[in-house]
Amino acid sequence: MITSVVIGMLCVHLLSFGVMFWLISQRLQGDKLGMDVFALGNAMLGLAYVMQLLEGAPSSRAVSVLNHSLTLCTPLVCWIGGMRFFGRPAPLLKPLCALALVYTAMQLLVQWQLGTAARYTMLAFASALTFAAMTAAVVYAMRRIARDLQVEMALFAVLICGLGVLNALKGVRLLQDGLDALDARHRFQSVFYIYMSFLATVLAPCMIWLVLRRLTDALRATAARDPLTQLLNRRGLVAGLEGHFRSRAASPVRLLLLDIDHFKRINDTWGHKAGDEMLCAVAQVLRRTLRHGDLASRTGGEEFAVVCLDAGDESAMAQLAERLRAAIEQESVPLPGLDQPLRCTVTIGVSPAFRSPDGLDAAMQEADIALYRGKAAGRNRVEWEPAQERALGAGSVPVAAQPA
Ligand code: GH3
Ligand code: MG
Ligand code: MG
Repeated sequence: MITSVVIGMLCVHLLSFGVMFWLISQRLQGDKLGMDVFALGNAMLGLAYVMQLLEGAPSSRAVSVLNHSLTLCTPLVCWIGGMRFFGRPAPLLKPLCALALVYTAMQLLVQWQLGTAARYTMLAFASALTFAAMTAAVVYAMRRIARDLQVEMALFAVLICGLGVLNALKGVRLLQDGLDALDARHRFQSVFYIYMSFLATVLAPCMIWLVLRRLTDALRATAARDPLTQLLNRRGLVAGLEGHFRSRAASPVRLLLLDIDHFKRINDTWGHKAGDEMLCAVAQVLRRTLRHGDLASRTGGEEFAVVCLDAGDESAMAQLAERLRAAIEQESVPLPGLDQPLRCTVTIGVSPAFRSPDGLDAAMQEADIALYRGKAAGRNRVEWEPAQERALGAGSVPVAAQPA
């Protein structure tokens, strides 16, 4: 009686979380994070347990064969859902149908040749093997593709491994006692179903937590980036700076403000789209030229802000700023219908070094002063603030943005 109640509760859990996963998948446009597949997995296992309730005692009826095929196919479906969650496209229907057909055929053969107890034993050992493989896959994923979800994946591995062990024990008991081992009054069966019930209760909220984490991480990343160039925006720059200064041994940093020279002319002459292409090209040069860890952002129209970490060495900073200026000057942007590619130059203002995120606003103002001194002095150059700090690499002849 108690076992039937536990199995009944298990069905309710599996089916209701299946519906919830499906509803979540409907809210996700594009990448459904495997939630539609997990919904199918839950529904299949829920149905398998409904059949078990209908079946009552172990039997050789069709409902039992169907129940076993559904039970064995569920781990495969969850596996495929996991692959999709981690962005690995995996086909669902073909492998699912193939496994269902092969396992149903094997069941019929074993039932015919060896009887009902052997068919139940086969399910227990096949499930144990499948869960062992799943545990290995989860451990692999934890080390290789889900490094940000180590704790969650470790929990999954332990829970799935437990399921494998219980199925292996069930198989051994079936070998020893035959179908008597499945008697609902046995303690082992109660433990088995209580564990299943516990899993269904724990795993589903864990899945929802993982999806929530993925979505909030994606939202945070989107909120921190400029949609045109994919560089950081001001919010992302501040977050990156705070991250750097969280470390006790954080080095001082400097801010470089870059403003494209005569950018309005590009828009006016070649159109807004050409201007956008130029902005993306400059962003690309920043990504290519900056050192690992330096933060590149687009803070407005044709203005970029770069935070250089490890900015203690003044001459290295001067070289970096000059390298950036020269790389942008040499960058060419081919445009359809134009014989020659577009080029542009930038003027760069460099702030004094600062040592905390609170220094950003002052650094912006100081770099801006240097920048406008550079504009007044003819553009396409690097200027430092305060002016005495100006070291190396003043710009060359100002070049208006024009076809090369
Ligand atoms: P200066 O050398 O003094 O910096 O001159 P400038 O023409 O670069 O500066 P100005 O501030 O006069 O013009 C900036 C232009 O940038 C004006 C605006 O239309 C354009 N702009 C701002 N945001 C975007 C954008 O997202 N895409 C494009 N294509 N243009 C933009
Ligand atoms: Mg500007
Ligand atoms: Mg400008």
